[in-house]
Amino acid sequence: MRHSHHSEPHESVAAEFVTCLRAVLGTPPHPLPLHEPQFAGHEWQYLKECVDSGWVSSVGKFVDEFECRLAQYTGSTHAIVVVNGTAALQVALTVAGVKPGDEVLVPALSFVATANAVVHAGGIPHFVDNTADTLGLDPVALQRYLSTIVEQSDRGTINRHTGRRLAAVVPMHTFGHPVDMPQLLSIAKRYHLKVIEDAAESLGSFIGARHAGTFGDMGILSFNGNKVITTGGGGAILTDDADAARRLKHLTTTAKQPHPWEFVHDEVAYNFRMPNLNAALGCAQLERLPAILDQKRKLADRYQAVFAGARTVSFVQEPLGCRSNYWLNTIRVHDGSMALRDTLLQRSHEAGYLCRPVWRLLSRLPMYESCPCAPLPMAERLEVELINLPSGPGLMKESL
Ligand SMILES: *Cc1c(COP(=O)(O)O)cnc(C)c1O
Repeated sequence: MRHSHHSEPHESVAAEFVTCLRAVLGTPPHPLPLHEPQFAGHEWQYLKECVDSGWVSSVGKFVDEFECRLAQYTGSTHAIVVVNGTAALQVALTVAGVKPGDEVLVPALSFVATANAVVHAGGIPHFVDNTADTLGLDPVALQRYLSTIVEQSDRGTINRHTGRRLAAVVPMHTFGHPVDMPQLLSIAKRYHLKVIEDAAESLGSFIGARHAGTFGDMGILSFNGNKVITTGGGGAILTDDADAARRLKHLTTTAKQPHPWEFVHDEVAYNFRMPNLNAALGCAQLERLPAILDQKRKLADRYQAVFAGARTVSFVQEPLGCRSNYWLNTIRVHDGSMALRDTLLQRSHEAGYLCRPVWRLLSRLPMYESCPCAPLPMAERLEVELINLPSGPGLMKESL
């Protein structure tokens, strides 16, 4: 255990924290943001092609091209691009078979979109604990918890307390650090749960040689402006299942039957298409992903080296056997509290480092307070002990 035995005065913890940040980032002439996009490749050229050709909207060559390149990069058989990561997760859950009234297991410490997508798909989020090892869903705690609340019936796996079906589990790879997917998959199999990976933060993260988001039945990515690469706004669904891929494309493009002129739609579907303009940006960004990941890793290595000498905080490293994209670099405060966290945020902001706390636990948000919830001892600690550090791919150049 790396936690210290006596608690330090908050100001001395904050002073050490800011000293470490300065050692990595220098003294910034302007406040350093958490994560800014970097446009250094063919972005202008591809966008201009869209405008010059008139293909800016829901069809065009960049949409197909981006899907193809994403599948290739991630090693997924299929990639379907959509308007954003939340919509991607919503339709993935629906296509995986989540029905209105089903419960879906979600880590309590995640971005709100993870739970929102469950509700948009008609489900009810059921919050479970996170682990300090990966910051994601804890498979060991999940197994222990399920063994106490579940019964099998002809309807499937049932939550004894609510009588509702447990349909799926959504591991989220927090800040790019992958969940232990092999272990989670074996638990999901035992309880007949579909696995939809929220890989929104983990493009470029691998477990062994395999890309995050390609372990479960489906995985989703996000290309929001603050993610590793951006399409302005956008998302994608990854799957190896050809039937699911066909259904995902159909459902996200108004369920129109292919025909040269007839407008026949065969179900109530969505317009979740990614416009060609955004896909053009995506193609250019994806070409530069290896360079971006390289810069981010150098920054993470530097943070790690500097924080290794700190007494009161630890740098969160990629899990064993994994290669993280280090989307957001993160420290964990020893013996943390909300008050200490707020002092660190206050002092780092004053020094020009726009650090950020993690999300309020989903189970504590007003619309999710009454949802089913496992004991959350670790998520509750992580909520006050984790702080994200400036992590943009351009930061190394400016400071070193
Ligand atoms: C970014 C993100 C999403 C999806 O976000 P969009 O803004 O809808 O693309 C989903 N889950 C997590 C954990 C995220 O960080």
